[in-house]
Amino acid sequence: MYLSKMKKLLFVVVYFITFSAFAQHAIVQQITQQVSEDSLVTYVKQLSGLLPVGTETIRTRYKGTTGNTMTEEYIKQKLNSWGVAFDEVVFSGTGKNIIAKIPGRRTDRVMMMGAHFDAVGTSNPDFTVVYPGADDNASGTAALLEAVRVCAQYQFPVTLHFAFWDEEEQNLVGSKFSAPDYMNKLVGYINHDMIGWSLNNDSVVEIHTASSGHSVELAQRVINIISLYNIPLKAKLMNPGNPNTDHGAFWQNNLTAVGINEIYDGPLMNPHWHRPSDSLATMNIPYFVSVSKLGLTTLLHEAMDSLNLVGLMHQSLNDNFAVYPNPVEDVLLIDNDEAINMQINIYNMYGNLVSSFQTNTQTPVSVQELKNGIYIIEISTQEKGISRKRFMKK
Ligand SMILES: [Zn+2]
Repeated sequence: MYLSKMKKLLFVVVYFITFSAFAQHAIVQQITQQVSEDSLVTYVKQLSGLLPVGTETIRTRYKGTTGNTMTEEYIKQKLNSWGVAFDEVVFSGTGKNIIAKIPGRRTDRVMMMGAHFDAVGTSNPDFTVVYPGADDNASGTAALLEAVRVCAQYQFPVTLHFAFWDEEEQNLVGSKFSAPDYMNKLVGYINHDMIGWSLNNDSVVEIHTASSGHSVELAQRVINIISLYNIPLKAKLMNPGNPNTDHGAFWQNNLTAVGINEIYDGPLMNPHWHRPSDSLATMNIPYFVSVSKLGLTTLLHEAMDSLNLVGLMHQSLNDNFAVYPNPVEDVLLIDNDEAINMQINIYNMYGNLVSSFQTNTQTPVSVQELKNGIYIIEISTQEKGISRKRFMKK
């Protein structure tokens, strides 16, 4: 009697932890602590022409210029030096995205981060005066490079993609070309465009979201991550967010995406934006480091959670079915009046598929062979799409 009561109590405790706690992942802390201010600043110096790259200097990253090509070579050389594979996605005679990939245990699920490496360049046709584009967007590009560097030796539950976008400044040409490739595999996308300006040290970071995919939930999770990992920033939720940067290309495809960036509008926005004075000298380095850490922490925290119960439920597509009883001992019933055919997949709390078969809604699903614990049942039907429900086997 005592023992069985203890067992029941244990179940309640496990249930509570799994569904209520939004817990830190030690591995995420361990990796994000390796983010180096020196590295971040060095990348910005090289991308904005303050330091040479090899024997030459990147003077501008404007579309179609030598400097734009040098920037691509610089990014590829960094990725090679860290042993990270990448795709070169050529979308026009002048445009090329570079997408670095760190394979996870699942290669059909992708958690992603991106930043554009091109810049506005100049307003004089002869390029006598150029815009270094330090904040816009050497800052985001640097954060992405540093994220790849510190993640290179790890494997995560899902695959990580790091997209270095070209021709954002020409109306998101690069990201609009690639975003549709992610329709059936994206867990979420995080965009960094301008993350180094903070006028008065107010630590405000904007979280841009939209009613696209699960973008609103992801934005809420970014806000929770700030406090969970003690990142010295204050979130300002922007819903609907500004679509005029690369996360907008994901929203156009109804994908889950958020932008994490400095203040975009009003008196607190960067007055050096698209000007010759957009240089490292006008950036706020501690703020830049904090936002870089927030983006990476979000990427990795979501990657860790993406296949466990929290993540699967978070991606739940609709609420068309109910399952009962719950908890269940032997057979699970799926609530529907008529018999419709369905594909059933059952996942354990680590996101591993433990059972997969076809049946119909009038046939009870046997769960007898499952070990006690918490599971997700995924019900796919032609008529009603995909639903995911959690249940406890006891
Ligand atoms: Zn930009």
